[in-house]
Amino acid sequence: MKIHNQMEDLVLSIVDEMYDSKDVQEQEICTCSQCRLDVACFVLNRISPEYVISSRGVAHLRSDYHNSVQKSADVVQLVKKGLEIVSRKKRPGFTHDDHLENVKPDSATFNFPVISGRFFNGQNFIPLLNQKIILYLDGKEVKMYDQNWQNPYTIVSTIPGNFMFWPESISTEKAGEKKRFSFRIGIDDPDYSEFSYRFDLEITSDSRKVNSLQVNNTYNLKDLYIFKNDFEENEELEP
Ligand SMILES: [Zn+2]
Repeated sequence: MKIHNQMEDLVLSIVDEMYDSKDVQEQEICTCSQCRLDVACFVLNRISPEYVISSRGVAHLRSDYHNSVQKSADVVQLVKKGLEIVSRKKRPGFTHDDHLENVKPDSATFNFPVISGRFFNGQNFIPLLNQKIILYLDGKEVKMYDQNWQNPYTIVSTIPGNFMFWPESISTEKAGEKKRFSFRIGIDDPDYSEFSYRFDLEITSDSRKVNSLQVNNTYNLKDLYIFKNDFEENEELEP
């Protein structure tokens, strides 16, 4: 079952509208995607979510929502407040630079799903921990969608064995174009240096870059079992 908080769509669209308005563009305010997301979080944490199940429900409730002018006006007020606060204290540790050299605004785009998977030690079936997992595309480390995502990804103890990547979108000529992307997963650990897992994703280009995470658009790899480089040698030594 797919659950969606439709307030996210409304808030994100109002945030984008406001950031792209002449009023804001003329001020010296950072308009990067991280600041926009910070404002959206500020607002979403202060209003009630409205969950819907099917995409049909989304369309239906959205039209309902737009009839409710007062509610919309409340969100606009909160967005204004959030924008003021976020622009006053820029989040440290972020470059506030969208790194979008791959994507021209309003151009057709290959949008990637979140790629997730799990790693187990093939000898004892224990999930890996603290290993650095790397995602490559055509032999190069893949740039992530934004700074909330890491490549290499370090497996953490809260979700042992799990890794997740969200590749940055890539511009193309037109929407509806089909392209096969060849990914490879590797591990930055001398004990597992020979490990390599390849998979292809066929992506159809969209008319624009997605601007929020689509939870139901996740590509789950099969579970990966890996062995240390010297595993076979050890086996041979046993009687
Ligand atoms: Zn910023």
